[in-house]
Amino acid sequence: MNTSDKLNEECGVFGVFFSDPKKDASSLVYYGLFSLQHRGQESAGIAALHENAIEYRKGMGLVGEVFTQEVISSLKGSAAIGHVRYSTSGGSCPENAQPFVSHFKLGSIAVAHNGTLTNADVVRELLEDAGVGFTSSSDSEVIINLIAKNYKKGLEKALTDTIKFIKGSYALTVLTEDALVGARDPNGIRPLCLGKLGSGHGPGGAAGWILASESCAIDAVGGEFVRDVEPGEVVIITKDDLLSFTFSEKTRRAVCSFEYVYFARPDSLIDSVDVYGARIRAGEILGRESAVSADLVIGVPDSGVPAAIGYGRATGTPYGLGIVKSKYVGRTFIAPDQGSRERAVSVKHNVIGSEVRGKRVVIIDDSIVRGTTSRRLVSILKTAGAKEVHMRICSPPVRFPCYFGIDTPHRKDLISNMNSVAELCASLGADSLAFISVEGLLESIDPGSSRSEYSGYCLGCFTGEYPIPVAGEDR
Ligand code: SF4
Repeated sequence: MNTSDKLNEECGVFGVFFSDPKKDASSLVYYGLFSLQHRGQESAGIAALHENAIEYRKGMGLVGEVFTQEVISSLKGSAAIGHVRYSTSGGSCPENAQPFVSHFKLGSIAVAHNGTLTNADVVRELLEDAGVGFTSSSDSEVIINLIAKNYKKGLEKALTDTIKFIKGSYALTVLTEDALVGARDPNGIRPLCLGKLGSGHGPGGAAGWILASESCAIDAVGGEFVRDVEPGEVVIITKDDLLSFTFSEKTRRAVCSFEYVYFARPDSLIDSVDVYGARIRAGEILGRESAVSADLVIGVPDSGVPAAIGYGRATGTPYGLGIVKSKYVGRTFIAPDQGSRERAVSVKHNVIGSEVRGKRVVIIDDSIVRGTTSRRLVSILKTAGAKEVHMRICSPPVRFPCYFGIDTPHRKDLISNMNSVAELCASLGADSLAFISVEGLLESIDPGSSRSEYSGYCLGCFTGEYPIPVAGEDR
């Protein structure tokens, strides 16, 4: 259950394939996972292909905690996949850490998954009835068991039969004894992109290929971003070939709009949109939609900062650094009860008093989930001497849960589900409060878009309209 005051990203995936068996993919996956650490801090793992055998290490904790120099050195392989996890489906425990690895009669495979399957219970029951055993409570284990069950049909057919059977959101990396595979669900809800490494004798004249949740991880290992994996696409990389095909005729892009607001790193491209640029534009649009007369605009670090710069540019309000965030309090900083959560906000954020004293301050944040952080921020700004505090939010009110790989609190704990904007403003103690409109959010991501046409982005947690039907939607 999400007890934090943010929506939490579920996972990040990363894979590398070298045609030359002497190259070391594991250490690149290790660096790639560091760059994706913001997508999951509960567990980390790497599976590597070495001389036709798949070996793996995984455990609870951050990448740097799970993988010492000794562990990485012992995990040799010319192809490897890795995973960082924050749990939504299944609990936070070592059994649910990924990649999942299966050794079976016809070979070995490893799977790393970002997303949530909406029909995992049904598929699991069918597999269990057929005698398939499970070692975890994670929905991702369903995928590896389905691939293993279908493997006698050949890799391509095993993948398509598996993928056609599962529903929900998935960005997958799969490692077999001779291939690295990437796949994305027909709506492309969770991101996945393709990169290449240097020049060599592999397919496409590259020395190696990369699959990553975000392009920042491709940059981190010196790779070159090539393109996004398309919704409903499978990419199979072997030493001789890079094969791509679309497994579903019913693809309809619905990329998670929250990736641009908060989840992704600002130096990433998500579906070819520059995340930093989208955040700057969100601030400019907030300035257009809900400007207020003020002396200073500040952003809540980290994701509120580009929007504050954009708001300042659009309105002529001076931008300043009014809030400092502790670098050492992670996104999963645990605060089990409301009292602890209130104190946790003080640990995370502090005000630069000299910057805000006596001023009318606009403060910009990415979202309001439970309201704990926002209330505390207003309070510490006023205590530090701000004359007025006006909150502006780069996402529309979060009123509905997510079912596609993002950990959301229960609907009754989403403060915007229970309160009007005016009630929420009063409860936060702010002088004014405004959220970007749904149209404004879409425009920030894709300046040419309009809500009157199909946008290509999931807006489910804002509008309650989901790209995939969700059984028993009110959980
Ligand atoms: S419901 Fe919200 S968080 Fe979930 S995929 Fe859609 S936009 Fe993203």
